[in-house]
Amino acid sequence: MKQFNVGILGATGAVGQKFINLLQGHPWFTITALGASERSAGKSYAEAVNWIEAVELPDAIASMTVTDCSPASMKGVDFVFSGLDASVATELEGDLARAGIPVISNAKNYRTHPHVPLLVPEVNATHTEMIKAQDFDPSGRGFIVTNPNCVAVPLVMALKPLMDAYGIQAVALTTMQSVSGAGYPGVASLDILGNVIPFISGEEPKIAAEPMKLLGRLGGDQTVTEARFPIDATATRVPTIEGHLLSVKIKFEQKPASADEIKAVLRNWKHEVSGLDLPSSPRTALKVYDDDRFPQPRKNAYNENGMQVGVGRVRMLEFFDAGLVALGHNTCRGAAGVAILNAELLVKQGFIQ
Ligand code: NAP
Repeated sequence: MKQFNVGILGATGAVGQKFINLLQGHPWFTITALGASERSAGKSYAEAVNWIEAVELPDAIASMTVTDCSPASMKGVDFVFSGLDASVATELEGDLARAGIPVISNAKNYRTHPHVPLLVPEVNATHTEMIKAQDFDPSGRGFIVTNPNCVAVPLVMALKPLMDAYGIQAVALTTMQSVSGAGYPGVASLDILGNVIPFISGEEPKIAAEPMKLLGRLGGDQTVTEARFPIDATATRVPTIEGHLLSVKIKFEQKPASADEIKAVLRNWKHEVSGLDLPSSPRTALKVYDDDRFPQPRKNAYNENGMQVGVGRVRMLEFFDAGLVALGHNTCRGAAGVAILNAELLVKQGFIQ
C-alpha cells in the first residue's frame, strides 16, 4: 500500500489535535506538515499548542515546526486535513485546492457548494463523483471534500437505513451536545456545570439542512438532488465532555409494524462501504441497544475508537411513528474520525493517488 504524506491545517485547535491523536500509527497516512495561524507559525508544535487530548503529545509531533497554511508551506504533502476556523477556511482551503492539493475539511464553508461532496462514507460514498465537476484546479488534482456537522453525522447514519426501508416524512429532534463540541476553551465552566443551556448559536439550521444533501440522490450530471423533508431541531449544550446524544422522532411514509422491525432494519444495514475494509471503519457502524438505559455518552461514545454510532430507546409513538436516541462521538465520528474515513475512501476510489 502506498504511503501518503499528510498536512494538518488548524493543527493547534481541538479538531486538529484529534487528527494528530487518531493518525498515530495509521497504516497509510503520515503527518509531515502542521499548519496554523501566524500566532503559531515558526514555533515548535509543543510551544504553539495547548494540548487537550487525554493522551501524551507524541514526541515526533511535539518537535515539528508549525508553519502557516499556504500552498508553499504545504508543498510536499499528498493532501491536507483541515480543522481551520471558519473565518479563514474559505480562502485558505480554496488556495490549496487551486494549487493542486486535495483538502479534506471539517469546516462548514464549502459544505453547501454544489460540486463539493458532503460525505459520510457509510451513507453516500458515491457522492465523491461530484469532485469531477469541481474547477478549483484545471489539472483535477486539487479538490475539496467536506464532512458534516457533528450532529448531522449520527443523525444521518440512523436515518439512512430507515429512509431506504420506509421513506421519511418528517423528523423532530433534541440534541444533548457535550462541551468539547464548542472547541477550547469553549463554554465557561460557570455557565455549564450543573446546568443545561437550551440554545447553541447557528446549530439548528445546519442540523436541518445538511442531512438533505447527505441523503440526496446523485444524478448523472454529478450534482445531488437533495432529500426533502422537514427536520425540526432543538440544540442544547449539556455538561458531558465528549459524545452528542440525540432524541429523535420520525414520521415515516410507510409506518413500520413494530419497534423490533425497526431494530432489525438498523442491525441489518448493508451500508455503502461494507466490505471495503477501510482502516478507520468500525466493524459495526450502528450498534442497536435493547437495554433502554443505553447508549450513554460516558460509557459508549468511545466504542470502536469513537467511530461507532449507538442507537437505543427504539419505540413506537402516538403522534410521530417512532422514536429513538442516537449517540455519536463529536470529535471522532463527528469531525476528525469521519474526515480520516473520507480520505481512506478517496484513496480506495483513486481520487487521492
Ligand atoms: P479551534 O480549537 O478554535 O481551532 C482553530 C484552528 O484554526 C487553530 O489551529 C488556529 O490556529 C487556526 N486558525 C485560526 N485563525 C487562523 C488563520 N488566520 N490562519 C491559519 N490558521 C488559523 O476550533 P475547533 O473546535 O478545532 O474547530 C475547527 C473547525 O472544525 C471549525 O471550523 C469548526 O466549526 C469545525 N468543527 C468542530 C467540531 C468540534 O467538535 N469542535 C466538530 C465539527 C467541526 P492558532 O492556534 O494558531 O490560532
